[in-house]
Amino acid sequence: MSIIFKRTKILATLGPSTNSIEMIEKLVLAGTNGFRLNFSHGNYEERDQQIAWIREVTKKTGKPIAILQDLQGPKIRLGTLTENIEVNTGDELILDFTAKHEGLTIPVQYNLAEKVKPGEPLYIFDGKIKTIVSEIISTTAIKVCVKNSGTLMSRKGINLPDTDFAGDILTPKDMADIEFGATRDIDYVALSFVQSAEDINALRQILIANGSTAHIIAKVETKSAIVDETLEEIIKASDGVMVARGDLAVETGAEIVPIVQRRIITLCRKYGRLSIVATQMMASMEHSPEPTRAEVSDISNAVVQGADTVMLSDETANGEYPLETVEAMKKVILYTQDHEPVEPLKDRLLDNEKRRDAISVAAISIAKQLNATAIIAETKSGATSANIATHRPNSTIISVTSEPRTAQQLALCYANRSYIRPDSNNTGLELAKELKQQGYFAQRELSVVIVSGQQPTAVGTTDMIKVCTI
Ligand code: PEP
Repeated sequence: MSIIFKRTKILATLGPSTNSIEMIEKLVLAGTNGFRLNFSHGNYEERDQQIAWIREVTKKTGKPIAILQDLQGPKIRLGTLTENIEVNTGDELILDFTAKHEGLTIPVQYNLAEKVKPGEPLYIFDGKIKTIVSEIISTTAIKVCVKNSGTLMSRKGINLPDTDFAGDILTPKDMADIEFGATRDIDYVALSFVQSAEDINALRQILIANGSTAHIIAKVETKSAIVDETLEEIIKASDGVMVARGDLAVETGAEIVPIVQRRIITLCRKYGRLSIVATQMMASMEHSPEPTRAEVSDISNAVVQGADTVMLSDETANGEYPLETVEAMKKVILYTQDHEPVEPLKDRLLDNEKRRDAISVAAISIAKQLNATAIIAETKSGATSANIATHRPNSTIISVTSEPRTAQQLALCYANRSYIRPDSNNTGLELAKELKQQGYFAQRELSVVIVSGQQPTAVGTTDMIKVCTI
């Protein structure tokens, strides 16, 4: 008998429906591997409380859990309206950074006059109301012409698909949030509305300057980010990518999103980066205990395509059935992985990863031939385990590390389970026995493949494959 283990991971967003240690523990026991803290909402006190609860749940359950800080980025919103406004085709609205709502003059939480140009599209309320910028009328105000009728409400989001932020996507709020996160136990920082690799490089410098060891996730949700070369450069500059399908659909048209999703997952595997598929995966379960057939199919497709992680947003943040949603997602993942292995990549071998790749491919092949229970990887930074994962083995990867941060980051990585212990000379068969004692294997007799280096405490020294039978 082998322990039931899902290779594709689940990232759940915390929110009012799940804001307690009891719910976090239940979500983890149901199969959640990481939590997204959406910095578009909430305050620092709430964040500190949530981080403390998640780490407490790890102590209780023994499961390393990833915490992802999702920065708001230039997610521009309308300000407060005194009442809803009905708009019609041909209306002209003034969007002003400093004004209060009066008639068709509408406050907006960002100085659009500094960024937009006449002729650029500006979409409001998830693209429900489309407008075109007609004039920059002052240093703080712009005029837009409405292209379809609809209703505007307070704080609805704005999308600017053709506006170039010229490397200036981090807002003062993001900077304050980064400083906050850098002093907290955060594993990933996700950057919203990335337009180019420079945005990622700039964030990397800021994180380093603030002493953060968090990995960077690029949220791909703009038109400029999906241009062929730009996308590849963004992926190479990042540690992982989120297919942020909500805003991506608004900015590019929904029909483009499935193809972009496939391309991103494939490129992430090629470059050894984490891939997260996000938004509306189980949207109907916000108000229903059962997913739709289309949602089940969407998750199954993401698994077959080889995504590392599938994400839940409103379903767990605001939904009526957060636990049922995670349980249903897990069921789909387990069934899919048992019936349809992920296709190996044809052109994975990269020059700078040749040695790691050669070891990974060999270890996976040995594990397959011997029907081994697991591949055990001794890893300091997690790179060895992440590399094995890019080849999407059907066996579990058990990452043995002395670094809690590495274990927490690997919690979102395909097929990984982590075992944290201090640096030790207990390797080979002894290590396999230690893992058995810790409950990692249910079988009485089993084989494992161990990947390690002669200096397990040093990064980048992996050079050995061993087969052990217990
Ligand atoms: C998205 O747009 O799909 C997304 C994940 O971003 P957010 O939920 O932060 O708007």
